[in-house]
Amino acid sequence: MSQTSRAAVSAIAYVGLGANLGDARAAVSSAIQAMDGLPATRLAARSSLYASAPVGATGPDYVNAVVALSTQLPPQELLEQLQAMELAAGRERPHANAPRTLDLDILLYGDLRINTRSLSVPHPRMKDRAFVLVPLAQIAPHLVTPSQLQSVAEQRVTRL
Ligand code: AMP
Repeated sequence: MSQTSRAAVSAIAYVGLGANLGDARAAVSSAIQAMDGLPATRLAARSSLYASAPVGATGPDYVNAVVALSTQLPPQELLEQLQAMELAAGRERPHANAPRTLDLDILLYGDLRINTRSLSVPHPRMKDRAFVLVPLAQIAPHLVTPSQLQSVAEQRVTRL
């Protein structure tokens, strides 16, 4: 048989969401719904919404959440889909740590380790950020240790 078919293998990818401009709660909630509609992807779990103080910047609090996606998209394609969602949400990047209408980060993709020009997975700063670890621990407690949570305990993160 000459025809080949691509095996439809799904991975679990964890994605962190953040927004602190405009109606940030609505932006995060609708992005969560939109991720369920990405090609070859379904929403497997979602955390509550959380409020956190901006890190390394001033401005309004962020609204954050973490979702688990069951996806057949390879990591780079998932990144491109998420970046298209950021653009559709009207994100501008005038400077680093600027306030943002929607920020989407791939935190984990199965147990893959990726270091390309456009993608670092696991996300290099996830262990430093309570606004990632706290919602991640809510939906995937096996992925976050008590000592990791303890090390970011001074960062304010409030469940909404
Ligand atoms: P940011 O401004 O924090 O959204 O960073 C966006 C840039 O980070 C993009 O150029 C991405 O290619 C890059 N990047 C590297 N690793 C990741 C990741 N795990 N998730 C999302 N963006 C990433």
